[in-house]
Amino acid sequence: MTSRPEQDMETNVTVVSAADMTDARKGGNTRKVFVRTYGCQMNVYDSERMTDVLAPEGFEATDDLEDADLVILNTCHIREKAAEKVYSELGRIRKVKEERAKSGKDMMVGVTGCVAQAEGEEISRRAPIVDLVVGPQSYHQLPSLLEKARAGSKVVETEFDIDAKFNHLSERAEKQVLKRPPSAFLTVQEGCDKFCTFCVVPYTRGAEVSRSVEQIVSEAERMAAAGVREITLLGQNVNAYHGTSPDGAVWGLGRLLRRLAEIDGLDRLRYTTSHPRDMDDDLIEAHRDLKSLMPYLHLPVQSGSDKILKAMNRRHTRDEYFRLIDRIREVSPDIALSGDFIVGFPGESDQDFEDTMDLIRQVGYGSAFSFKYSSRPGTPGATMDEQVPEDVKSARLAALQALVAEQQKAFNASRLGMTCDVLLEKTGRNPGQLVGKSPWLQPVQLDAPEDLIGSIQAVEIVDIGSNSLFGRLIAGQDDLGRSGRIPAPAA
Ligand code: SAM
Ligand code: SF4
Repeated sequence: MTSRPEQDMETNVTVVSAADMTDARKGGNTRKVFVRTYGCQMNVYDSERMTDVLAPEGFEATDDLEDADLVILNTCHIREKAAEKVYSELGRIRKVKEERAKSGKDMMVGVTGCVAQAEGEEISRRAPIVDLVVGPQSYHQLPSLLEKARAGSKVVETEFDIDAKFNHLSERAEKQVLKRPPSAFLTVQEGCDKFCTFCVVPYTRGAEVSRSVEQIVSEAERMAAAGVREITLLGQNVNAYHGTSPDGAVWGLGRLLRRLAEIDGLDRLRYTTSHPRDMDDDLIEAHRDLKSLMPYLHLPVQSGSDKILKAMNRRHTRDEYFRLIDRIREVSPDIALSGDFIVGFPGESDQDFEDTMDLIRQVGYGSAFSFKYSSRPGTPGATMDEQVPEDVKSARLAALQALVAEQQKAFNASRLGMTCDVLLEKTGRNPGQLVGKSPWLQPVQLDAPEDLIGSIQAVEIVDIGSNSLFGRLIAGQDDLGRSGRIPAPAA
């Protein structure tokens, strides 16, 4: 099954403004920052922005932990294991720090993200090598917090002031020419007011806040000018977006997408993650009206049992979800649907689990992400009766994943022989191979010259694997007539 950022993503962010790196070198004061990202795409976006904020301070990104003057672990708290992973990584970093100290080199260590927000001072207590603990809403303050830490104080900054973060980060980006890969993330909304009974997000990310239309449009324009061709709008509940436009009106996500679709060079738009309650008509119709809005929708339902949906405080029924899917498929019949499922929520009986399996069979997903319920301290689910035993959770998860894998295979197989646009993103594992993305978010591998990275090409799907598709370039039919680097066949 496709792996998903929330499940196991750990990335080292290496993106840094070339211009700023040069300035830092000119000053002769280059330091290295190593950022490891855990969790969701919103953390990937935040890691990039932290690197942006640190670049003018003379920090250059490195992939080599041992070479780093500053190490940042940008953490996730959604499931228990994720937090434990951070503590064991801190143990490894302690040894590296000790080795560096032997040769007279210092290393500062910061923990950011949702574990930082949730655990605060507890982190430096459990891991004394940590110099600073910074919650998700305070990244714009990193330079001054670093100064404080350098002066010898242990810094813990977990205030919720999201407007300040967005305003400040936006200003920074304006001064920098950001060179991003052809596909990039853009956070438009953060936080959540829904309080599902299993979830820590409302506690770690705070209340729902949307960025203004103006901020988002100008950031998207800068990204497009720097070569980004696909933007995925991010939010914990992205379709609850309600940002203020320049004339003071409040725009929903559908209207925002319509505005972004006007930006020249921005050929593909996506958004994630959505809540079923917030799929309004305008957003559904945007899937019909906007060519650049890709036919993929991640719409988590979590469970197919009304009893469990109620206990989870999801605020919709199984039937309402079915009706929503029907409306979406009416406007976009070929859309790839994805979802999240939790198995073993407290009180989930065999029949409740069967209802979830039945929902999956009826909907038919192109991919999905599934998790064993993980009890999170402080959430209502943690103190509910009838916690489900671990072995039952494991068996249910295996059955659900097998069903989804079958559906994913069938969905992928249905693309065989089709010609579709593929955004070519990077080199593949084998020489001469590139990897791109289909409109339905499947990775596509194909042989193509490296200078086509960043272009959208017409590709025939000639084979399928379990997670990816294999394609062949259709010479002369480059999409949108923009990249135009494959010569048309002679008439
Ligand atoms: N806002 C989205 C929604 O309402 O569906 C989900 C965002 S949440 C950050 C990502 C996914 O993590 C959820 O959809 C859920 O499946 C999973 N998740 C959250 N808390 C969990 C928990 N305590 N145990 C297991 N999975 C969990
Ligand atoms: Fe968590 Fe999503 Fe529920 Fe909000 S809507 S509490 S982010 S699962």
